[in-house]
Amino acid sequence: MRALARIIAQRSGGIMANFVVVGAGQAGFSLVETLRKQGHDGPITLIGSEPQPPYQRPPLSKAYLLGDMGVERLFFRPEAFYAEHDITLQRGVAVTAIDTAMRRVNLADGSHVSYDKLALTTGASPRHLPASIGGDLAGVYAMRSLADADAIAPEFRQGARLLIVGGGYIGLEAAAVAAKKGLKVTLIEAAPRILQRVAAAETSDYVRTLHTSHGVDIRENCGLERLIGTDGKVTSAVLADGTRLDVDFVIIGIGISPDTALAADAGLTIDNGIACDAACRTSDPRIYAAGDCASFPHQGKRMRLESVGNAIDMAEAAARAMLGQDITYQPKPWFWSDQYDCKLQIAGLSTGYDHIATRKGEGDGISFWYFAGDKLLAVDAMNDPRAYMVGKRLIESGATATPAEVTDPATDLKALLKR
Ligand code: FAD
Repeated sequence: MRALARIIAQRSGGIMANFVVVGAGQAGFSLVETLRKQGHDGPITLIGSEPQPPYQRPPLSKAYLLGDMGVERLFFRPEAFYAEHDITLQRGVAVTAIDTAMRRVNLADGSHVSYDKLALTTGASPRHLPASIGGDLAGVYAMRSLADADAIAPEFRQGARLLIVGGGYIGLEAAAVAAKKGLKVTLIEAAPRILQRVAAAETSDYVRTLHTSHGVDIRENCGLERLIGTDGKVTSAVLADGTRLDVDFVIIGIGISPDTALAADAGLTIDNGIACDAACRTSDPRIYAAGDCASFPHQGKRMRLESVGNAIDMAEAAARAMLGQDITYQPKPWFWSDQYDCKLQIAGLSTGYDHIATRKGEGDGISFWYFAGDKLLAVDAMNDPRAYMVGKRLIESGATATPAEVTDPATDLKALLKR
């Protein structure tokens, strides 16, 4: 039926636009799913360079790496879903260029796909260490894709010596898995403290204690001088303070760069990612972007977020905008991290805070509330889902609570939502 409707529509002027989405990750999947849910009946093609159907990345450094989750649970939907919803999924093939004049994308296999509207959900790539300091040695891994996780997994043998470079969430999650599996883990962070870019000192302190209590050797203010190898395989690391560590393998977790090359080559504006307007539209009105690769206007600045929540919400906004709906994308930032038995949940954005209020929750729960004056900006909640939920709802509704209220154990958090 859909095919027949499409032919009729195309003959009668193409009211069912032909949508192409480049990048079959979290945002690409959410975008095509939203297009169908919103009733779009025209052709949809989702093109991804990875060989697998779209899958979720967060478990790669958590349950999947630990061996607690099978690969099939990573996929958002079984492969049959795409055919059932008349979505053409082209996987294992990269888009090499966008021809904006011809309105088509060129693929690495020499073929091309035409579009009426195009969405770029190309994500981001991990930053690598330069080859000049050993970044190209065997045994040095990044952690972004399923292929990365599958390559690292055999190295996770009890007693193996692992060096993690970078104390962000991904490095810390990998450290937790490794410690649980009985590896000897050293994590170095060049900044004065782990999580410095994203969290307050209180959260860094909590996470550091968590790791050291599990035997992870965390060294802050400690850069990497170089990696040394034997027969092309990493065997040791020289730290900036001159210390030499023998290692069996190394994981690099020093951040990511948005994948903007395709957009830049097509002449689209790049500004901390593929620059979009509030309707997720790039500088070419037929091309949209969403997820880790895209930046958008927010409170007078240009913002780019690297999280599942943003990838889903921005992709949904982009899909609606592609369908002609009037969209102003407003992010509602949230994030989580699992390390050992601690579930860390984060709501809001802490940028610009001047004060932290600490609240003890039930059991071992604790939360840190970020304020700018009396305005609540963000909450980091450890094993305290209630603090997270209340904080998130307060922030999203533009309401607040005072630091004194939050700190007072007698305060009923849920009651704050009813004021
Ligand atoms: P991606 O999921 O990276 O998808 C982009 C896709 O586009 C990729 O498959 C890529 O191969 C493809 N692509 C790129 N260029 C081309 C091209 N030219 N042609 C065809 N295909 C192309 N976020 C959280 O909120 N909580 C977490 O706990 C969390 N944990 C994480 C753990 C790990 C190990 C990683 C790597 C990320 C984690 N994240 C987490 C971040 C989250 O996974 C990302 O923010 C999210 O995946 C972004 O979705 P995306 O679609 O923008 O990008």
